[in-house]
Amino acid sequence: MTIQVDISMNELQQLDKQHFLHPSSSIKQQQEHGPAFIFTEGNGIYLKDISGKKVIDGLSSLWNVNIGHGRKEMGQAAFDQMSKLAYSSCFATFSHEPAILLAAKLAELTPGDLNATFFTSGGSESNDTAIKLVRHYWILKNQPQKKKIISRTKSYHGLTIGATSATGIKVFRDFTQSLAPDFYYADHFSPESLRELIEVEGPDTIAAFISEPVQGTGGVLIAPDGYFQEIRKICDEYHILFISDEVITGFGRTGKYFGIEHYGVIPDMMTVAKGITSGYAPLGGVILSQKIHHEFIELSTETLFHGYTYSGHPVSCAVALKNIEILEREKLVENARVMGEELLKGFQWLQKEHEIVGEVRGLGLMAAIELVQDKATHTRFAKPLAPTIATELMKRGLNCRAVVLEGADTLVFAPPFIITPKVVNRMIEILHDTLSIVESSSH
Ligand code: PLP
Repeated sequence: MTIQVDISMNELQQLDKQHFLHPSSSIKQQQEHGPAFIFTEGNGIYLKDISGKKVIDGLSSLWNVNIGHGRKEMGQAAFDQMSKLAYSSCFATFSHEPAILLAAKLAELTPGDLNATFFTSGGSESNDTAIKLVRHYWILKNQPQKKKIISRTKSYHGLTIGATSATGIKVFRDFTQSLAPDFYYADHFSPESLRELIEVEGPDTIAAFISEPVQGTGGVLIAPDGYFQEIRKICDEYHILFISDEVITGFGRTGKYFGIEHYGVIPDMMTVAKGITSGYAPLGGVILSQKIHHEFIELSTETLFHGYTYSGHPVSCAVALKNIEILEREKLVENARVMGEELLKGFQWLQKEHEIVGEVRGLGLMAAIELVQDKATHTRFAKPLAPTIATELMKRGLNCRAVVLEGADTLVFAPPFIITPKVVNRMIEILHDTLSIVESSSH
């Protein structure tokens, strides 16, 4: 049965303006123009809106629809689980098959000795959970003063109060006037900056360092060679736990199952969300190393006073298991690696062709184009061009994101892993046409 909505596009736009407060959106823009798009369908790599316009989903919507839209077997997995056991709690050691099997699967997929998962409903909750778990860990280890969390400038860890406090991009922190205490920020590209901060604050006061393997919302910022190896060394030297925020990079986005695997280091905890279900159901998790897990087992004497109603939601876990089965069956992580190389080659060609294309970069299917007024001096435009270009790209059938935070003028891309060479070429064609038009009007 399908739900029949007998309502015009205009009516929907009015209702949206009157009743819907959108996340991370301009309220002014919504009130003046209505919602930018009302999407009605997704199929493979394409999204269709209410007017019938079809676009390439060049960002996998929110870096998450990794296996592509409209997979019937994902719907079937949700239907089957809902029909059998739609919900039961995981509090008080109650358990169920989908959560147990998913936790075991994650232990198998993650690198090194990462082996036990605490489930959440998304990325922000995962990072809040990791922050609480590392602090609790140090309480158990009789070092309760170790509670400070260090993250990186230009980082994004989500928007619950703890995750916002860990987020390096300042506009998100400035949204309210009262952040959680005990958060500090090291320079995003310098391991030495972490060392200096630890020395200033005192290693005995620091619980953990948290970092995305590739900074996504910051504009697909790839750390310099050796960065994470040095970070791991510093964390070990000062007895500080290392949390890898794999909310975007987890489950194949960078061409390996987890972003941190590119650097050959093992974090003490990993946070995941988005790609764990490819967005077909909300789910997140914190995966603990065997060492940390064993310390919890050895030292914990009372209830773990942390959890969410939807920690280990059976439907979300069943959907995640199906998603991982599809990733493995269709070898989509490998395809993300290969297609990522194709996309980057395309961007390098655009860089040669266009005056306004500065640095281009990518790791797997996480890629970016920087816009510059002058290539030689890397001078940016006084008013960032990325938002205009993103709008123009959308008109021509390509969805991406414009990043203008912290002085950036960047277009970021993260298409679904099912992308083919033909669609990569189409993306480059659309970019080429759009850049040519914008270039001729901006020079
Ligand atoms: N961490 C990273 C690296 C993210 O990119 C995001 C979301 O974009 C989050 C955490 C927050 O995840 P969520 O929006 O599911 O709470």
